[in-house]
Amino acid sequence: MTSDTASQIAYLARALKAPALRDSAERLAATARDAGWTHQEYLAACLEAEVATRGAHGAENRIRAAGFPARKMIDGFDFDHQRSVKRDHILHLATLDFITARTNIVLLGPPGTGKTMLATGLGIKACQAGHRVLFATAAAWTDRLTTAHRAGRIQQEITRLGRYPLLLIDEIGYIPFSSWGDIFGDDTVAAAMIDRLVHHADIISLKGDSYRLKNRDLGRIPRPATTTTTTEDAK
Ligand code: ADP
Ligand code: MG
Repeated sequence: MTSDTASQIAYLARALKAPALRDSAERLAATARDAGWTHQEYLAACLEAEVATRGAHGAENRIRAAGFPARKMIDGFDFDHQRSVKRDHILHLATLDFITARTNIVLLGPPGTGKTMLATGLGIKACQAGHRVLFATAAAWTDRLTTAHRAGRIQQEITRLGRYPLLLIDEIGYIPFSSWGDIFGDDTVAAAMIDRLVHHADIISLKGDSYRLKNRDLGRIPRPATTTTTTEDAK
């Protein structure tokens, strides 16, 4: 490549805001010559490099913007430890069909059984697939919506949130049942909300001792006397 052409490409790539294109145009030129690529093959390889970087940056930005409490991936989930959830079930959810189908996922279970980790793992998958995601605790969502309501911009806020294909609400169980009516205005509205949430939901019930206490010599946490019925594999 002559230096004139190189600087022209650098200029054009800058104008296109495509820095990877500038780098790959130079880097791939030698490979293209050696391997006898056609002009089209060379162009495709350069564009592909740009698209790949944009995809990776986009995913990274979406992950950062989502507000996950930690970066936990589905790959790191130990299904041998957590037997009450089927690996295939979670891997199916990780294909993100539930987003297009507009199905809710409800994760139930005692502390430390992996609810936040699975929700985060699915959320990160969604970010990587190009979806915008927001994660917050139920308390934080309530604060945010209450603030918007008081400021008279609840409708704008709901419209804005409607543009996110995936919203994650963590720690719903920490809101005592008696305050749901306060949050939603009255008990009937609260009951209707819960009814709708659960109706279109894949309900996953996690069981067992806290993973946080795994390998710690603290003895077993006493179980509550009542037994819960499992709704795993509700699909
Ligand atoms: P929960 O939200 O149900 O209280 P978390 O998802 O926060 O539980 O899990 C507690 C900790 O244990 C986190 O650090 C999480 O990554 C880890 N953890 C829980 N279950 C598993 C698992 N099956 N495999 C790997 N790590 C797990
Ligand atoms: Mg949690």
